[in-house]
Amino acid sequence: GASIRIGIAGYGNLGRGVQAAIAKNPDMELVGVFTRRDPATLSLAGGASAFHMDELAKHTDDIDVLILCGGSKTDLPEQGPVLAAKFNTVDSFDTHAKIPEHFAAVDAPATAAGKTALISAGWDPGMFSINRVYGEALVPDGQTYTFWGRGLSQGHSDAIRRVPGVAAGVQYTIPSTEAIAKVRAGERPTLSTREKHVRECFVVLDEGASAETVRESIVTMEHYFDQYDTTVNFIDALTLASEHSSMPHGGFVFRSGNTSDEHAQVIEYSLALGSNPEFTSSVLVAYARAVHKMNKAGQVGAKTVFDVAPGLLSPKSPEQLRAEQL
Ligand code: NDP
Repeated sequence: GASIRIGIAGYGNLGRGVQAAIAKNPDMELVGVFTRRDPATLSLAGGASAFHMDELAKHTDDIDVLILCGGSKTDLPEQGPVLAAKFNTVDSFDTHAKIPEHFAAVDAPATAAGKTALISAGWDPGMFSINRVYGEALVPDGQTYTFWGRGLSQGHSDAIRRVPGVAAGVQYTIPSTEAIAKVRAGERPTLSTREKHVRECFVVLDEGASAETVRESIVTMEHYFDQYDTTVNFIDALTLASEHSSMPHGGFVFRSGNTSDEHAQVIEYSLALGSNPEFTSSVLVAYARAVHKMNKAGQVGAKTVFDVAPGLLSPKSPEQLRAEQL
């Protein structure tokens, strides 16, 4: 059939990653990149078109799915509800504690407009969430463990960059190897949030900013840092550029449990990502395909990864999947 026409809203790491992912999916085509900045200032790869975000309304008929690539902290809560009233959308909203609120905020406009709005896709939330649900359902007598890293967390880096006094910065999440070994061995340990990971920040200060004030704002930030041991290192811009510019990530989801008194079962799903944003974007593009199919089938309103059947992610037909993958 005709290819799926994709728009990109916001051109940061995910925006560039979505563009790269579309190039790997022959059933997709990129209509254009939409930005709040002057589109002429974007350096776009591969001859793609750039438009100002204000021009989106003119493209309602030539975009099948709009992939929202803004930040979770302030962009997606604003843009999600507005854009879900005009387009089928996919986003990567990752402020876990606010997902129910975000779901409700996009559900009303999407439902009223007959659009499908898939929120919180990616790897966590996203593929990790699916694996947590599988684990719980398949081994009900058990415990679920999620470990992240070692990796650069975009959500947390985004959050520290918005702290007044911060010029630039990155945040690494580091899992405890002892904790992972216990879980993998089926010990079902009780681990506090603090015992599982530490957070490490590298920050470049604005001129004249107080290091102590910035440190305090970061380590006490609700949802992001307040439940962890966080260290904040102050470095210069050159060091940041030379030592902290790649964005690796990954982690593990475990379900460890018992199906009887005799038998333990351990399920492990792991990701080792060379680039967090490129993988996340690749997931968003697969979910855009599913959203396109779901909207055509009349499944409208807000959705999460739990509402999407796995076969819908594939460009292959149900018949082909049954023959090849079962
Ligand atoms: P970026 O900060 O790179 O981009 C966010 C937005 O900022 C862009 O859409 C863009 O909007 C604007 N922007 C980008 N670069 C510039 C610039 N140089 N100057 C001014 N504005 C700029 O964020 P990411 O793409 O790395 O991540 C987006 C979100 O994805 C994160 O907040 C995180 O929550 C989420 N995420 C989710 C994951 C998951 O597993 N669910 C995993 C990874 C990330 P515009 O073009 O309109 O200016």
